[in-house]
Amino acid sequence: MVPVPIPAFADNYIWVVPAGDGRGTVVVDPGDAAPVIAAAEAGGWRPDALLLTHHHEDHVGGVAALLARWPDLDVVAPADDRIRGEARRADGGDRIEAAGHGFDVIAVPGHTVSHIAFHGHGLLFCGDTLFSLGCGRLFEGTPGQMLASLDRLAGLPGETLVCCGHEYTQSNAAFARAVDPDNPALTRRSEEVAAMRDASMPTLPTTLASELACNPFLRVDAPAVRRAASAWAGEAGLSRAGAFAALRRWKDGFRA
Ligand code: ZN
Ligand code: FE
Repeated sequence: MVPVPIPAFADNYIWVVPAGDGRGTVVVDPGDAAPVIAAAEAGGWRPDALLLTHHHEDHVGGVAALLARWPDLDVVAPADDRIRGEARRADGGDRIEAAGHGFDVIAVPGHTVSHIAFHGHGLLFCGDTLFSLGCGRLFEGTPGQMLASLDRLAGLPGETLVCCGHEYTQSNAAFARAVDPDNPALTRRSEEVAAMRDASMPTLPTTLASELACNPFLRVDAPAVRRAASAWAGEAGLSRAGAFAALRRWKDGFRA
């Protein structure tokens, strides 16, 4: 099953899992209704279910307008009062069915405390938790929470297609190369990403195997990444969690 990214705002992706095999169409994180309606009209389909990963407006802002257009839409959302309206609430450990597609719900606190991810059919919808070559900012959670969340995602099968909420890959690549300059897999991925962006192509989905090889936030156990984090922090022998926290702070202030 090939998930399709619909660009929204400056750099968001709204993901569509197309209908097939008797299943309906699932739309993930519709921050804006207009591009979803335009894609549906152009493609001759309608959404049957909406999956929401977290409460930020750029991920949920289109829900009300889509419900106005298709009142029977099935909405699945994290249990968080900041997401208003009718929705089935899902939490980590749940197995849900949406438009006939089964997904495991994974709790991934860090970017926000109630952030969830959906995994099924070899696809991972991870919102603003894991990006290609990066991870989400810690608006609400602690570095330890985010690291545990990324560890959960890192344990999924390597061939999993990672469908992230933003096209941040090229700017993430600049930071990743500053951390891990001698990683040949990262060099190759950076070159591939530059060519894709030159051709106005999405760099997503990526595979989990590629992220495990290239993404510094999934590579805090790699000696080179650990050493770079320690050197930046000016603290020898950082722990795994300490190295992750240092990387996140380093990235927060990084300008390519
Ligand atoms: Zn967000
Ligand atoms: Fe976002």
